[in-house]
Amino acid sequence: METYKLPELPYAYNALVPYISEEQLGIHHDKHHAAYVKGANDILEKLDKARKESAEIDMKSALKSLSFNIGGHILHSLFWANMAPKAGGEPKGKLLEEIKNNFGSFDQFKKEFTAAAMSIEGSGWAALVKEEKSGKLIIMQIEKHNQNMYPAASLILVLDMWEHAFYIDYKNEKGKFVDAFWNLVNWAEAGKRLQ
Ligand code: MN
Repeated sequence: METYKLPELPYAYNALVPYISEEQLGIHHDKHHAAYVKGANDILEKLDKARKESAEIDMKSALKSLSFNIGGHILHSLFWANMAPKAGGEPKGKLLEEIKNNFGSFDQFKKEFTAAAMSIEGSGWAALVKEEKSGKLIIMQIEKHNQNMYPAASLILVLDMWEHAFYIDYKNEKGKFVDAFWNLVNWAEAGKRLQ
């Protein structure tokens, strides 16, 4: 029973060169993302099996791991889609308008998002979200795949800051990876998510 499936990349493995190499993207998608998909399916299967056999299970550990793996799967799926070859630049339309309303200017938003990405402790993500209660656009840091999330926030743009996202291309220079990311942002896709 496979609840989750690894999505194919929406472009070729070499499509993001020179910003992300074919090797880096291939390992990230085929190994790391695939592991979260398998992890989520394995835990669901384990829970199912325990249910059928009325077996005891360490529920806290199983659910923590399930949330970690589902979070990893969802975030990576969004991450692939919010990048594209020949992209970057500035958003248009409603998204640009809302970024200006909430951050003052696109440059200010970019500065704050970059600072959020650069100051993540350990493994995690920078994300632009719409907090549904207030309707505000807010930047957040996601620890690992699933911590610090607002319960009602829609993800608009995510940036993977785990080392596995950039170590082949940029080694310890994660700032260069963030700079590269700005050349890949698929603002049309981010704009759709705002709707
Ligand atoms: Mn990753």
